[in-house]
Amino acid sequence: MPSLSCSYCPEDAVYTREFEGASFCSKCFRDSVEERVRRTVTRYEMLAHDDHIALALSGGKDSLTLLNILVKLEHRFPQSKLTAVCVDEGIDGYRDEALLHASRECKRLGVAQLTVSYKELFGITTDQIVTADPDKTPCSYCGVLRRKAINKAAMMVGATKIATAHNLDDETQTVLLNMLHGDPLRLVRSGPVLRDVRGRFLTRIKPLYDIPEKEVVLYAYLSGLEFQSISCPHGTEALRNDIRNFLNQMDQKHPGTKFTLKRSAERLRELLAKSAPSVGLNDCEKCGDPTPHRYCEACTMLETVTA
Ligand code: SF4
Ligand code: ZN
Ligand code: ZN
Repeated sequence: MPSLSCSYCPEDAVYTREFEGASFCSKCFRDSVEERVRRTVTRYEMLAHDDHIALALSGGKDSLTLLNILVKLEHRFPQSKLTAVCVDEGIDGYRDEALLHASRECKRLGVAQLTVSYKELFGITTDQIVTADPDKTPCSYCGVLRRKAINKAAMMVGATKIATAHNLDDETQTVLLNMLHGDPLRLVRSGPVLRDVRGRFLTRIKPLYDIPEKEVVLYAYLSGLEFQSISCPHGTEALRNDIRNFLNQMDQKHPGTKFTLKRSAERLRELLAKSAPSVGLNDCEKCGDPTPHRYCEACTMLETVTA
């Protein structure tokens, strides 16, 4: 059977983007992903020319791909700066491998790196939290502490923005998760750019917002990136996994489903932002972070496992 040609050059194609009806060789595919990220950054006004970006680097395929793309983008903005911030959650035998990949790639690309740990920031590891409260889903603790740890690390390096590697699949899964949890108002607190109006948390941007997960994997593979191969032993997001499978099936049968869902969420987010009641925020009495309650979510969680 004759091989399919790239739609943009004479090379053989390695990938066909169904919803675009275009095929790509390795180089044109990577160029197209980088160009799409550049357009996302521009469309959502994610970056200023002199931003210091703290990239949340886990050592997985998504964040290593984002690191490689941001390094290229950064060359266009000589006044900008990029620092990788890594978090060691304290999960024995899991994060060590990822941190090695992260450090090696930062060295190769000449990107400064700061690693912080739950142990040093909060006095406890995820493994210890699991032992202290076996009934609670580890990810619910870990996700909240990770957000806080990344914010702290980004502030330590003097960053002005935080870039996370959430891709199109992560975003659309979260949209459906919020719906299935009966919490549609959470849509207001998601999206490609998250700004804290009080300025206590750094603005978070998601440059891979328009890139499907399978394209992130292919980009990483075609770029020869080595990334973490094992899954977290505490990962128990059963509902998210079911939603992932459902969306993948839908997108295979009806190419473009994930993009359509993303656009619907954007429209809903605009409507909700206009009508959602604004929540009054206090300073957490322990750490000072903004919270609608007396203590923030992280301090409340830590209290239950360290008391
Ligand atoms: Fe933390 Fe859950 Fe991710 Fe493991 S899977 S690192 S426990 S959020
Ligand atoms: Zn080509
Ligand atoms: Zn707090």
